[in-house]
This record gives sequence, C-alpha cells and structure tokens, in this order.
Amino acid sequence: MIADLSQSDLEALGARVRADYDAFRARGLKLDMTRGKPAPEQLDLAEGMLALPGNRDHLTEANEDARNYGGVQGLAEVRAMFAPTLGVAPAQVIVGDNASLAMMHDAIVWALLKGVPGSAKPWSKEGEIAFLCPVPGYDRHFAICEEYGIRMIPVPMTGDGPDMAKVEELVRDPAVKGMWCVPKYSNPSAESYSDETVRRLASMKTAAPDFRLFWDNAYVLHHLTDDRREILNVVEACAEAGNPDRPFVFASTSKMTLAGAGLAFFASSEANVKWWIARASKRTIGPDKLNQLRHVRFLKDEAGLIAHMDKHRALLAPKFEAVTKALSDRLANQGAARWIKPAGGYFVSVDVTEGAASRVVQLAKEAGLLLTAAGATWPYGKDPNDSNLRLAPSYPSLKDVKAASEGIAICIQLAAIESEQA
Ligand code: PLP
Repeated sequence: MIADLSQSDLEALGARVRADYDAFRARGLKLDMTRGKPAPEQLDLAEGMLALPGNRDHLTEANEDARNYGGVQGLAEVRAMFAPTLGVAPAQVIVGDNASLAMMHDAIVWALLKGVPGSAKPWSKEGEIAFLCPVPGYDRHFAICEEYGIRMIPVPMTGDGPDMAKVEELVRDPAVKGMWCVPKYSNPSAESYSDETVRRLASMKTAAPDFRLFWDNAYVLHHLTDDRREILNVVEACAEAGNPDRPFVFASTSKMTLAGAGLAFFASSEANVKWWIARASKRTIGPDKLNQLRHVRFLKDEAGLIAHMDKHRALLAPKFEAVTKALSDRLANQGAARWIKPAGGYFVSVDVTEGAASRVVQLAKEAGLLLTAAGATWPYGKDPNDSNLRLAPSYPSLKDVKAASEGIAICIQLAAIESEQA
C-alpha cells in the first residue's frame, strides 16, 4: 500500500514511477479512451445490412408497404423479435428510430408538458421536481435533467445497484418523480442490479403517485463473458407489486447493429404504451419502417440477434481484458484505485484516491492520452470526491487500448504518490 510506505520508500517509488511516466510521454502517442462507441470492426459486422431489404423487398408480414407512412408503434415482426429481450408482450413494445436517448428525452418532455398516466397535472406545473441519479452514472441522462431544470439527487451504487435504503427514503418526497436506472452492466460501473434491488424498486412506496423508473437497459445483451447476466423482469415485478405503470423500459440496437442507424425501443404497461402512442402520433406519421425491415431481414430472429452479439463480444472482450490486466499489473494492492472486471457493457469504472481523478486526467493529457473529464459521471459534472474515472476501451484498436491502459495505470499510480507526498 502506497499509504503505508516509509518516506524514503515513497520517494524511491515516486522516482521510478515518474521515470515510467516520462518514458510513456516520450513515446509521443495519441490515444483516446473517451469514446463509448463501437469500433469500425464492430460496425463491419452489420455491413450486410446496408444492402437490405433490397430491391422490391418492402412488404411487411402484414402485407403493408414499409416505404409508406404509418405504423407509429413499429412493425409487428420487429416487436415480436425484441419483446423477449425487453421482457414484455409484443403489444407492449414501441419501436422508435435510431436513438433510445431521443425516446428518453421525449418521455421527459411529454411528462413535463402533459403528465403521465396517474399524474394529477403535468410535471412542469408541480413546482420543482427531482430525479434520483445513481452515481457514477451516464452523463447524457444527467444532461437531459439539467436541460429541463430537473433537480438531480445522487444515490451511490453499491455493487448490487443503487443504495436502496437511501432510495426508499428519498422517494418519500413527492417532488421526486423519477429515477435513472441502467440495470444491467451499468454505465459506467458495469454492475447489475440484484433481484432484491429490482423488487424493492418495484414495490417501494413513492409519495409521487406518478413516479417513473427510467429503466435504460442499454446493455441488455452486451455480455463480455459466459456469465450472461439476467436481471429480474422489472415490468413483471412492478405489476406484481401493484405498480404496473412504474417502469419505462428503454433499449436500442445502437451497439448491436449500427450506432447511428439502429432501432430504439420503449416497453411498458398497456396504459403507458397507449400514452406513448397518443403523444408520438402527434410528433410523426410513422418511423423508418425500412430500417425495421432491414433489421428483421438481417438478424432474422432472437437467436440471430444473440449470435450477432457473440461476434461483438469476441472483438470487445480482449480490449476489456487488456484494461483490467494493465490496472492489475501495476496497481494491485497499492491502495491507489478500485475497479471491477466488467462482465458486460461498454466501460471500466475506476475509483482512484479521493481528490486524484482530475490530476490523473491532466497527467494523461500531458502524455498524449485523452480521458473522459473527471466528474463526467456525476450530475452537473461534479464528483464531490474527485475520484471516479470512466474508461471506454471499445473504439481504439487493441494495440492502442493496451498502450493507453498501461499509461492510465502509470498516471493513477503517480497521482496517488503525489497526493501522499503533498
Ligand atoms: N443509454 C446508455 C446507458 C448509454 O451508455 C448509451 C450510449 O452510450 C445510450 C443510452 C445511448 O443509446 P442510443 O444510441 O440508443 O441513443
């Protein structure tokens, strides 16, 4: 442990690590570990989609012309294909265009302007409202809240999902209308919610009768190991607990097929789906059904989808392995950082010693290595402990991920030594 070293041992280690850092910087690399998006090779896996559905192939199973207007809910065959993944019946699925984030955004804007089933009035007429935000979390969720003046209340993650005692206490405030959840392979901590967490979220007593779980299952099929995590079905759990309208489930094929041209999904209770269609049909005459058809033709069925995800895993797992190996090789038993080996998702979350995260980012930058800004995983971009770092190894080549990870481990170790010396 760095903290237990004698003054002279600390100085000796500091000199060695500083030399490693200087050597790393002297390599003049240009590395970027900020981009949580698929690598070109992953997009290539779906290249075949670009030729689909192909000339004259535009009729749906119901014999509708996918080139034309209409079909706000999405094609029946697409809803049937993704319904098991979403944990609902096909009738409870909406297929959107390419971004689930856009659907989350619309859900919040519609809730603000119109309210949701069970609302006494639109959320914007309620005075200040608040959302619970498990931390570390996804910056774009927080950005939506910030954009619309929704107060964000951080709740710590525990390894099994959010701290439920805190959540249960906070939802006693009627101003708390919602909560962001990335229940499987969370962004960025990679943890998955335990059954008990899901049950408690489903059954907890909320003061707001129209409280919603924004259940962003972005990484539902994004396994990195043979341990294919399954989490409890939140729609069923909420229905069983007498709160059928509580969950708004979101997912997308952004990191299954094409990040910029996938399909997004909303799944929920019958009442919520009806509410969604009523709003969505004012916004559009219908989604891009050719893209929906393209997905069905390419993936074929649920088994095809899962087989496709295995190909992603083969490309991604070595990159994650490279990150955690580099961290372990240099930082095991140093007390300088804590991380978990992700079993899925797109990120490695590292907690460094308090107050050191921005220093790590700065050291990395000076050595040609771009890291996500410290604080990005917290509401308002402010991590009160300045300790969380989000690493995104999917996009760079494996060679670059290896080099970057070694560099990151050096920067973390150096920052820890510096804070000990301060
Ligand atoms: N939700 C989470 C948790 C994410 O990490 C991301 C992308 O990184 C998204 C949503 C974006 O999804 P989409 O491409 O469907 O908008």
